[in-house]
Amino acid sequence: MRSKLVAANWKMNFTANEARAMLAALRAELDPESSTLAKDREVLIAPPAVLIPAVSQALAGSSLLLGAQNMHFEDKGAFTGEISAPMLKPFGVTHVILGHSERRHIFGETDEAINKKVLAALRHRLVPILCVGETLMQHDAGNALEVVVKQLENGLDGVSSEDIERVVVAYEPVWAIGTGKNATPEQAGTIHGAVREIIEQRWGREAAVKARIIYGGSVTPENVDSLVSRPDIDGALVGGASLRADSFARIVRARVG
Ligand code: PEP
Repeated sequence: MRSKLVAANWKMNFTANEARAMLAALRAELDPESSTLAKDREVLIAPPAVLIPAVSQALAGSSLLLGAQNMHFEDKGAFTGEISAPMLKPFGVTHVILGHSERRHIFGETDEAINKKVLAALRHRLVPILCVGETLMQHDAGNALEVVVKQLENGLDGVSSEDIERVVVAYEPVWAIGTGKNATPEQAGTIHGAVREIIEQRWGREAAVKARIIYGGSVTPENVDSLVSRPDIDGALVGGASLRADSFARIVRARVG
């Protein structure tokens, strides 16, 4: 049985003080339930890079995991403004979001660069959360699956059969991110099923059974239960609704029916 991963992508939000207050409120909600939640839930906080030391301290002693929103594929060098896996790891970072649609569309990240980041994350024993998803235009043209398959194949190129089990895929339709329009559980379930099939074709049945494929795009306390109840949806990547402790805690407690 795959545990559900619920990840908060804080994007470019919160100062250090605001982050500490947010985490105190979140821990007050979730810490008392941690032993029940631990059975089938992993919770990840991905703050802006500059807040990672403060968040790392604020999470000490909790079961909440710490993630990064991006990283460079090289370990060090002349890459102004970038950060690398060896810089993240000492703070207890375990996961890194890669290829988020805002990275792809605002900052021009290519499949090739994202693939190098995925391989670098795996090399450094970080769990890459590879984001894939179609734009509204691609969706309306009926090309969602084709776009997702291409991003997936390019993004995971060269990943070994030992490493594939550590990869998380996040299906995030671009038209659903921050828009209040989520994919229906049926729409998301279809794409997740197709992603799992591709993993099976390339890496085998066992890898496909173990692979975690999470959904992102306007997940809220109201829609999370029906989304994560689909057998192929293994959790959620949450933007806007992760910025309030009460709404994120409710999403973490999603009821799988
Ligand atoms: C995201 O940015 O990964 C995201 C899913 O955002 P939101 O939940 O706000 O749509």
